[in-house]
Amino acid sequence: MSEIVVQKFGGTSVGTVDRIDSVAEIIKNASKSNKIVVVVSAMGGETNRLVDLAKAFGDDPDKREFDALVSTGETVSSALLAMALHSKGVKAKSFSASQISMRTTSSYSKAKILDVDAKKILDVVENDTIPIITGFQGVTEGGDVTTLGRGGSDTTAVAIAAQIEAIRCDIYTDVDGIFTTDPSVVPNAKKLDSITMEEMLELAGQGAKVVQTRAVEFANKYKVPVKVLSSFNDGNGTLISLKDESMENALVSGIAFQKDLVKFTLHSVGDTPGTAFKILGPISDAEIEVDVIVQNVSIDDKTDFTFTVSNEDKEAVEKILIDLKTEVNYKELIINSDIAEVSLVGAGMRSQAGVASKAFKALSENDVNIQIICTSEIKITMVIDEALVDKAVNVLHDEFELEK
Ligand code: ASP
Ligand code: MG
Repeated sequence: MSEIVVQKFGGTSVGTVDRIDSVAEIIKNASKSNKIVVVVSAMGGETNRLVDLAKAFGDDPDKREFDALVSTGETVSSALLAMALHSKGVKAKSFSASQISMRTTSSYSKAKILDVDAKKILDVVENDTIPIITGFQGVTEGGDVTTLGRGGSDTTAVAIAAQIEAIRCDIYTDVDGIFTTDPSVVPNAKKLDSITMEEMLELAGQGAKVVQTRAVEFANKYKVPVKVLSSFNDGNGTLISLKDESMENALVSGIAFQKDLVKFTLHSVGDTPGTAFKILGPISDAEIEVDVIVQNVSIDDKTDFTFTVSNEDKEAVEKILIDLKTEVNYKELIINSDIAEVSLVGAGMRSQAGVASKAFKALSENDVNIQIICTSEIKITMVIDEALVDKAVNVLHDEFELEK
């Protein structure tokens, strides 16, 4: 059998009947050089409509029925896309999650993929038929429908690519690829031809929204090369490669930023073993993701402990911390919602000093105060005032000449 490519089409790519027709054309062309397996999202806006509809009989619908309802958008688009292919003389068959045994855990709305019946998919391919598989959906051991979380079709596509040993997973979307930063903030941001998997992981984790973070983690774990490209314009997109394609890595490949964050500081907590665990344990038990964590140098065995979380978790975290007041014995709880994180990411940082100081200098010359600095091998994250994000990103983009 010739090599298989998985193609995934997002909501805007299949947003209308005309769009579905264009996508069918892309698939038909690709099927001339490779075996193709397709994963599809719901038509753009449809999942939101279903989520709203689910509230018709109360704000807290039954979780099983919620997933049964919101997963139907993908059922519609997969069947329609199969019909579009038929109209072009291409053999195609739609498949729901249960038809290909896309087995998941039973945590509704955030189910995790366990496995998928690769043989079933490969048998269809072997028959010169293109399987059009619903993204986002899963099925439990007991046969109940689950969903993988918003944007989950990317993960479906990468998981299937891994299981059927596809040579690549192409993620078609409404942008031309991965850019050095968000072009709506920096108009001369440049599309990247390639980026390494680890750079993409850092960028996605820090707010670059083009591909779902979980999908990139999956791709990294199962070694699936991913390409991000537009279904609207021709072009080569961006290859997210497993190994470095270029001899010399860019110092900075991209700048990501996140605005909807909140910073919690526990002022004057005991600098004793177990304090960090006492604070973050209950937060992780509540499945809340913590981003930057900093603990300061201590004076008189007292220290300040600061971390950031997404704004949507603000109330839950505040409540946990207030409940912990006596146990952790902090003096004051300081909450700041007007913050943002800006991150520079580049595999070349590893071998080159001076990136951080160059960034700090550029920001200081532009009156951007940095509240927290946090680094990894290939990333520098700075917490700044939310109102200054666009300016900071532009300054850094210029400073590192990313438009070139
Ligand atoms: N249709 C689902 C959503 O809008 C899944 C996806 O598009 O990836 O979140
Ligand atoms: Mg999406």
